[in-house]
Amino acid sequence: MEKHEILKNIKKEALENHVPILQDISLDFILLILKLAKPNKILEIGTAVGYSAIQFSKYLDGENPKIKTIEKNETMYNKAVENIKAMELENKIEVIHDDAINYLKALDESDTYDVIFIDAAKGQYLVFLEEATRLVKNKGIIIADNVYFKGRVLSDYNEHKYRTATNRLREYIKIVKEDKRYDTTIFDIGDGVSVSFVNK
Ligand code: SAH
Ligand code: MG
Repeated sequence: MEKHEILKNIKKEALENHVPILQDISLDFILLILKLAKPNKILEIGTAVGYSAIQFSKYLDGENPKIKTIEKNETMYNKAVENIKAMELENKIEVIHDDAINYLKALDESDTYDVIFIDAAKGQYLVFLEEATRLVKNKGIIIADNVYFKGRVLSDYNEHKYRTATNRLREYIKIVKEDKRYDTTIFDIGDGVSVSFVNK
């Protein structure tokens, strides 16, 4: 099977299984950023089945380019490894099976990234941001998906079970908007995409 056929199947299977992969519009937008930024090292928090990492790998640039992507769910992790192998991208994409907070806290600052993409548990975005800020290169970019959390972040009323995550996403937006280290634009596309240029 040709690579684009394999990728089409990965997407189809993910959608059939309700895996929350990047929406087309958000993906196109992030790919445009990658085309311009030409990253050599990308860090992704939340692999799922590897769909976004596979898409991002097309726009890696420079010598020994790599994506490191972290997934805590074992079933997802296994599927991601299988998909990346099918796409013959094992040399470019490394999947880590761990809780991202656990894993990132253990990384030291010699391991830095041009672009960091946050797309995992909404209640943990603040911790992810803290670690991403530590691990992003100066002038690097932190992108976060789902910052509007299906409209909940912009709405006054929210079900109890979503309240904590919603408030943390509001806090995320407030920090990247107000803290001088970030130059941020939130784009009202897909489920809300936040793009922060980081000045350390
Ligand atoms: N980026 C993917 C979609 C990721 S969905 C794509 O667009 O193709 C979010 C994933 O994050 C889920 O698979 C979930 O298991 C994982 N996740 C949630 N919290 C996590 C954590 N703390 N550490 C690692 N993975 C986490
Ligand atoms: Mg997402």
